[in-house]
Amino acid sequence: MKFEDFQISEPIRKAIKDMGFEAPSPIQEKVIPVILDGNDVIGQAQTGTGKTAAFGIPLIEKVTPANHVQAIILTPTRELAIQVAGELQKLSKHKQVRTLPIYGGQSIGHQIKALKRGVHVVVGTPGRVLDHLNRKTLKLSDIHTFILDEADEMLDMGFIEDIEKVLKMVNRDRQMMLFSATMPPPIRKLSNKYMNQPKQVTISKGEVTAPSISQVYYKVLEKNKLESLCRVIDSEHIELGIIFCRTKKGVAELTEALQARGYMADGLHGDLTQSQRDGVMRKFRDSNIEFLVATDVAARGLDVENVSHVINYDIPQDPESYVHRIGRTGRAGREGLALTLVTPREMKHLRSIELEIKMTIPSQNLPSIEEVVE
Ligand code: ADP
Ligand code: MG
Repeated sequence: MKFEDFQISEPIRKAIKDMGFEAPSPIQEKVIPVILDGNDVIGQAQTGTGKTAAFGIPLIEKVTPANHVQAIILTPTRELAIQVAGELQKLSKHKQVRTLPIYGGQSIGHQIKALKRGVHVVVGTPGRVLDHLNRKTLKLSDIHTFILDEADEMLDMGFIEDIEKVLKMVNRDRQMMLFSATMPPPIRKLSNKYMNQPKQVTISKGEVTAPSISQVYYKVLEKNKLESLCRVIDSEHIELGIIFCRTKKGVAELTEALQARGYMADGLHGDLTQSQRDGVMRKFRDSNIEFLVATDVAARGLDVENVSHVINYDIPQDPESYVHRIGRTGRAGREGLALTLVTPREMKHLRSIELEIKMTIPSQNLPSIEEVVE
């Protein structure tokens, strides 16, 4: 199947080409025609399979020159709002569409000014969107499209109430779409309540993790964890790596320890200011640092090109979080490596992850000092 097979106009076709997309991904192939037909849609596919363009292409197609907010996309995090807005801006390179990300942590005055100048598509985090709705600086009573991106992550972050509040301020006759890697019951409930006979499109049921990601784990002792991590990263050819810790404090401590050992690392967690977070992400995307040390929340949904390694310094206690974490690598069909350090006490978490992903993660011996020095 080719992008030419879709009923989309020349400016969008050209933008897709400029983005270097040769053929639609499986979710795009299935979902784009259904959206173009005007249906409400639930799209479920693994992370890194191109869900943004799957809704972005028909959305940008549908935007008209009318000067008001025509569509809203809710995302769980600020970084994701910026990322999705960026992808939409690329898709509308040859069409007049103004897309604005709005998120907490950025001056609301700046956002109000930008909204006043006229915006067609808003991408925002639920809290900040509600804030604008309450101030009446944003109006969603005349939109044609409502999209929930990474719905399962929004649920995990406790946004379900805010989402419902936003939905109540939106006209009923919009097309609604919901994208998610997993479909827990509360998400189903939400879709039953607010969607109009949605068509569900699911890709590769059962296959939870992308086949392009190789996974291994290392048995380590708690007291040697840092040393073990250094050995592992010294023996790998890492282009960009994300190292996950369980807590903000863990992120801060590990970042400092890695920096002290001369690694190009920086930390990302919820206690940083927005401009600090933006700065860290910019450095990482520009490869000015090699390692991003992050908590789960900070790294949700992030799509950074060339992430060759995801390293679980602390194993996640929740199996779904493991799937999301390792989905930061092996994106768009590239190869990726997911490495997990496991202390004896954490073995039970490893087993529950294996149950969830329906495969056994092979163990590997820690590289010896000789291998590291070589
Ligand atoms: P998801 O939301 O499913 O996790 P994204 O939408 O973030 O995935 O897409 C992952 C990466 O794949 C992005 O860098 C995106 O630009 C790229 N991508 C999307 N669609 C295609 C395509 N058809 N061909 C090549 N790359 C694509
Ligand atoms: Mg996504």
